[in-house]
Amino acid sequence: MHIEEILYTQGFGTRRVCAGLVQQGFVTVEGQSVVDPGEDFAAGGLRFTVQGTPWEYHEKAYLMLHKPSGTECSQKPSTYPSIYTLLPSPLRLRPNKGAVQGVQAIGRLDQDTTGLLLLTDDGQFIHRMGSPKHHVPKVYEVTTKHPVDQSQVDRLLAGVVLDDDPKPVRAAACELVGPLHLSLTLTEGKYHQVKRMLAAVGNRVEALHRSRIGALALPADLAPGQWRWLRAEEVDGLR
Ligand code: URA
Repeated sequence: MHIEEILYTQGFGTRRVCAGLVQQGFVTVEGQSVVDPGEDFAAGGLRFTVQGTPWEYHEKAYLMLHKPSGTECSQKPSTYPSIYTLLPSPLRLRPNKGAVQGVQAIGRLDQDTTGLLLLTDDGQFIHRMGSPKHHVPKVYEVTTKHPVDQSQVDRLLAGVVLDDDPKPVRAAACELVGPLHLSLTLTEGKYHQVKRMLAAVGNRVEALHRSRIGALALPADLAPGQWRWLRAEEVDGLR
């Protein structure tokens, strides 16, 4: 693939901008400057730099973000900064069928929830992960306002009725981790589900952190606000 096309697919700007970046000497491949926009490279796994920033070619982008508190999972946030401001601009500007689309979060976390968030520009993957038939377990670490007891855990496991649906929702797993700490697994994602389930058993969420989605755990070395690419086997494990 031409280097200018590689840059274009990765979100570095229009084809004209990408050709300009190459011609102006802003692009290196394996430590060598590339100045011909038409020079061909095998795109898969290609590592290059643009204006000193290292990049890696991905046909589709799949990534994880450690969402910090005080950020909104919206492109147009109302109060707090958007999580998308935590991503480098090429991830926000990747083209899709000629239009700038960028990556999108798979589901949403509340502004005050922290932890594992997945993003991609693969529309089919977003659709599949969001489908009610796709029961990927999501694990939440819950800090409660009031001490939790076994009867609350039992009620969360048996199922509680929320205000918008008579059908009870239940935790797929729920463990007491400490007097004010629960580990709760859900296989669906209703609006404010954890907070509403805890309220339904007479408690209140003080802090909420998503630690796992399916087989994928938030790595201990990924600090709040940081992101990384998902490995191919991690993506396959979620399908
Ligand atoms: N449940 C909630 O209440 N909030 C979240 O952010 C995620 C799950």
